[in-house]
Amino acid sequence: MSKGLRQELLLLALLLLFALFIGGLTGYVSQFLLVSMAGYLLWNLYNIQRLTRWLKSPSKNTPETTGVWDEIYYQLYQLYQRQRNARRKLTSILSRFQESTQALPYATVVLNEFFEIDWFNSAAKNMFDLHASKDVGQRIDNLIRQPRFTMYIKSRDYDTPLEFSMGANNLLLSLTAYGSGQYLMIVRDITERTKLDAMRRDFIANASHELKTPITVISGFIETMREQSDESLQIPLEKIQQQASRMQLILNELLQLARLESENYIDHPEVVDVENLLDEIYQDAIVLDSGKHDIVLSSLPLTVDGSREELRMAFSNLIINAIRYTPENGKIKIFATADEAGVYVGVEDEGIGVTYEHIPRLTERFYRVDPGRSRNQGGTGLGLAIVKHVLDRHRAQLVIQSRPGKGSLFRCHFPVPQAVIEPRESVTQL
Ligand code: ADP
Repeated sequence: MSKGLRQELLLLALLLLFALFIGGLTGYVSQFLLVSMAGYLLWNLYNIQRLTRWLKSPSKNTPETTGVWDEIYYQLYQLYQRQRNARRKLTSILSRFQESTQALPYATVVLNEFFEIDWFNSAAKNMFDLHASKDVGQRIDNLIRQPRFTMYIKSRDYDTPLEFSMGANNLLLSLTAYGSGQYLMIVRDITERTKLDAMRRDFIANASHELKTPITVISGFIETMREQSDESLQIPLEKIQQQASRMQLILNELLQLARLESENYIDHPEVVDVENLLDEIYQDAIVLDSGKHDIVLSSLPLTVDGSREELRMAFSNLIINAIRYTPENGKIKIFATADEAGVYVGVEDEGIGVTYEHIPRLTERFYRVDPGRSRNQGGTGLGLAIVKHVLDRHRAQLVIQSRPGKGSLFRCHFPVPQAVIEPRESVTQL
């Protein structure tokens, strides 16, 4: 029992004893008991009224009182102080957060669950010409009127940032959900980076283009020289011709990559019949492989939106790799399946595989686990980079699983709604 409550009970007991004593002396016990209880009640009502007044503007100066009321004021004041300190701390954290986000060079906007602006920093003010007085509370897509941005907001899928242009600027926007339905929108101006990327791309494309003609001419001359020269020169000339062909292959692939890189998405996608495409690639693979492996195809009748030519390039590269890196008689499976998450097209082999640490780097240009082996097999080191770019343009992902000595699985995932899944009845197995 607390000290205040003990005091209060003592006070009440004394009051009752006093009423009983006076009542006993005068012969009006019940009347005195009633009056003392009424007095006690009035005293408590008075204290409740004082407490209500104090609660309106709590301060250190609590009303003078005794017993349990003294303790109530003490506890309430402690609670009030704790809350005030917590509020102060929160305000200081908030103002520090606002100061640091104000200082960020990136446009930062806090949006509520309806994508209405709650707060923005000065970089956002300058980038989008926002005004606190009229724009707070406005929907962000009413202020940034850009079709790709509107579609992005509607998509509700903010895993990958959005790149879009506004006027002469290229912007990279990321949207992160936090708290209870709020969003943090961060926008970076990447105009300079995009220009540098374009310069690098143009340089590689131009250099490859410029080198193509001399290499073709050299190849032609070597061919003629081989026809006209004697036996002793045949081997060195053949070697020169092989290298010239390799250079031609590398230049062609570099040009393909430059073309793929120049546009992020396919402007006019077509409906690609995956089963039919895989069947064509499968026939080519059988010819290329000339019976060295056991190649099988298993495909559902599926379609994806995109470019048939680019997908052919990507899937062919995966199959060529499987042939390259699988020992003779090994099994290679080409497949296309689907589930509620989308369409999967892939190649699985029983080849040499790669160790775990190489997997994230396989799609880099010229990255090879064993450069000597890749070159001997006619590889350029650009195949998987091409696959990755083609898939990016189709908003698809490449998933690689591999175990050294056991084999590899390269699976392309075309997420819904991009992929169209046709009825299952017409399943064909080859
Ligand atoms: P390359 O022309 O060298 O094959 P890629 O870009 O197609 O270039 O592949 C990069 C590297 O990834 C290869 O050099 C090889 O080390 C590894 N790789 C690709 N596919 C496979 C596979 N099916 N099995 C094992 N390793 C593979």
